[in-house]
Amino acid sequence: MFEGPLQDLIDEFSRLPGIGPKSAQRIAFHLMKAEPEDIDRLQSALGRVREGVQFCRICGNISEADVCHYCADTRRDKGLICIVEEARDIQAIERTGEYNGRYHVLGGALDPLGGIGPNELNIRTLLQRIAGVLADVDDAPETLDAPSISEGADLDAALAAKAKGPEIHEVIIATDPNTEGEATATYLARLLRDFPDLTVTRLASGMPLGGDLEFVDELTLSRALTGRLRV
Ligand SMILES: [Zn+2]
Repeated sequence: MFEGPLQDLIDEFSRLPGIGPKSAQRIAFHLMKAEPEDIDRLQSALGRVREGVQFCRICGNISEADVCHYCADTRRDKGLICIVEEARDIQAIERTGEYNGRYHVLGGALDPLGGIGPNELNIRTLLQRIAGVLADVDDAPETLDAPSISEGADLDAALAAKAKGPEIHEVIIATDPNTEGEATATYLARLLRDFPDLTVTRLASGMPLGGDLEFVDELTLSRALTGRLRV
């Protein structure tokens, strides 16, 4: 144990995910010897993260603007959506270099015991996107009176899509290969079954079970992506 500000700093770092007491100590000692400019930069980055981070109105990705750069990029296939649990999973898919569609970030996975149900996830916007009732970048920004999803009534949006015809032709479910991810994938596949012209696929096998998408190596993920299966 140390004293004063140094120990406070070690305590703070120890609370971060993936940082044990030894690493916390190492980082704190490193910062103690760091140049004032480096400390200022770190401090300002920490400040900005609290004030500046927002979520893309369309896909739920972390974004500096109203719409993230994947959604704003017109070279990307607008008709293809890859559904991931967290924004950091996008980086994993991007690293494969195999994907040129857009994304949808759920903000987690279904976990009934942990109190995470469909309404806690970013599913409503997903249905709006597929149903074609969510304003895209080129469209007017005002949101339409979209169908609500609640237990038992979550197919309203599906019915809306039937009338309109989908602009989105395929949805790839890329939730984590663990229990919650699988439950989420099954739920989404069932939900999306009512969009008749939509192809719903799931990343192919070869994904390590019980894992986290973020940590799957590029080759495995790339193979899982190209060999995705219809669900
Ligand atoms: Zn986006």
